[in-house]
Amino acid sequence: MPTIVIADEMEKEVVAEIGKLGKVVFKPKDLKKELVDADVLIVRSATKVTKDLIEGAGSLRVVARAGVGLDNVDQAACKEKRITVINTPGASTNAVSELALALMMAMLRNVQKAHHQMKGGKWEKKALTGREIAGKTLGIVGYGRIGASLAKKASALGMKIISYSPPPRPPEDGIVKYVDDLDAFFAQADIISLHVPVLDSTKNMINAANIAKMKDGVYIVNTSRGEIVDEDALYEAVKSGKVAGAALDVYKSEPYNGRLLELENVCFTPHLGASTKEAQGRIGAELVAALKSALAKK
Ligand code: NAD
Repeated sequence: MPTIVIADEMEKEVVAEIGKLGKVVFKPKDLKKELVDADVLIVRSATKVTKDLIEGAGSLRVVARAGVGLDNVDQAACKEKRITVINTPGASTNAVSELALALMMAMLRNVQKAHHQMKGGKWEKKALTGREIAGKTLGIVGYGRIGASLAKKASALGMKIISYSPPPRPPEDGIVKYVDDLDAFFAQADIISLHVPVLDSTKNMINAANIAKMKDGVYIVNTSRGEIVDEDALYEAVKSGKVAGAALDVYKSEPYNGRLLELENVCFTPHLGASTKEAQGRIGAELVAALKSALAKK
């Protein structure tokens, strides 16, 4: 019976399902020690699976990430030790695209400002005149699972969809128009939503030079990864009014405590993209299925 170490928080039901596949060690105090005899390590985003962490894990066969991004797993180190790495890529797609849409609408209608105002005993409607998303051009960076899912929803709400997403990519689906020139893409979008993984080509993609190419009064939504945005550049751009508003779910360092929090025109959520009951259920089901097949292979 394999020993399965679950390092991060996980729903009781999922832990019970995983328990049918082996002996579960849940959230051990000394993870490194527990890994010495473990066959499987399961993480979410909190635990960083570093080379050092798996160094002494002689029996480790599978590292499973309950979620999409594998940026907290040193995949090269796993490959070197012939450890299979699995994740649950499709389970949170809908939850993240719904959050991106919710953030976009909240930001354009000043929901976060209105909420704070009323809590502070004010009723100042004039300062809260918003913008509508219908008729606006939504620029999606990265037309993968989440980008395409958002495009479908936003298009149904009357938005025009363009995407910067170099090949390989799906053919245009009647909703999206690909714009391959990044400068032209930035110049056309009223709202930009980021849906790319962390790569050399995407790190700090939203920087001062690229923000300068965007429309005055552009809105930016980031539900991908904090690394994609130069937070200092975004701060300056929101402060100057070049960027009319931003909505952020992810940050370079989490929990985030930086100076963007000073700005009224930025709407924040604490990395809630996949945090729906439905997505957590799907993540659990996908994880158990992937784990079963990975264990069966060896
Ligand atoms: P995906 O792999 O399906 O799509 C990513 C897309 O980005 C692909 O189409 C790829 O071709 C494209 N791409 C790669 N490099 C690019 C570049 N330089 N410029 C433009 N496009 C590029 O991934 P996904 O499932 O849609 O996830 C997207 C992002 O969302 C990931 O960063 C993931 O970590 C993040 N995510 C966040 C949460 C959250 O809780 N906020 C939850 C799940 C996923």
